[in-house]
Amino acid sequence: MKNIIAGNWKMNNLKKDIDSFINKFEIYQKSIDFSDKEVFIAPVSVYFYYFFNKIKNKNLNIKLGLQNCHYESKGAFTGEISPEMVKDINADFVIIGHSERRHIFNESDEIINKKVTSCLEKNIRTILCIGEKLKQRETGNTFYVLEEQLSKNLDSINSFENLIIAYEPVWAIGTGKTASPEQIAEVHNWLQKYLEKNIANNVPLLYGGSVKSSNIKNIMSIDNVNGVLVGGASLNIEDFIQIINFDKE
Ligand code: PEP
Repeated sequence: MKNIIAGNWKMNNLKKDIDSFINKFEIYQKSIDFSDKEVFIAPVSVYFYYFFNKIKNKNLNIKLGLQNCHYESKGAFTGEISPEMVKDINADFVIIGHSERRHIFNESDEIINKKVTSCLEKNIRTILCIGEKLKQRETGNTFYVLEEQLSKNLDSINSFENLIIAYEPVWAIGTGKTASPEQIAEVHNWLQKYLEKNIANNVPLLYGGSVKSSNIKNIMSIDNVNGVLVGGASLNIEDFIQIINFDKE
């Protein structure tokens, strides 16, 4: 399984920022060994084609995806994007259930289940984000929360070939507080066992939450960590390249 280094740009970056990112990536790409890793970027959806068209003749090794989509295939859902559309524009992946979708936009486990179901049915590589809030961790409910999210979000799905799980403790996202290596190891070990028993073997497991160039090496050395989902640090190309090149001195 290749490691996945994924950048979630959230609601950031204009055309000029994309231009600058691509220009620099083109130079830095030579330093990256892609034989054992994949690089994902999820720009804002309205900029997908701008980004896509800019890189298509440049031979850049970036997989482009979306940060969210709806579960219905079409219809009266103002402002939404369907899984058919994700496929139609040749997006390589989609992120579902990001904590900002869950907690700012009130997406329930049931809605997330419908979204994951639709995306996996269309053979879209789907990064399902799960994670506990600080209070839930402090009250000893981390594994209860994760189990509930996984069982509800993956309910009645039979094909998991394109599923990727990102463990993102809510208290570590955008806060500068990274989970400790022990906390990450404990959860990823639990997740690996849970997935093997109840879902499927070989589901890539990403960690997300204040991943930076200074902590990536430690994080990637933890058992059952197959990659990272990076928010803030993916906006700065120098930081992001260092994260991608975590295996270099
Ligand atoms: C994220 O957006 O998924 C994320 C982990 O953000 P950050 O790296 O900024 O904590």
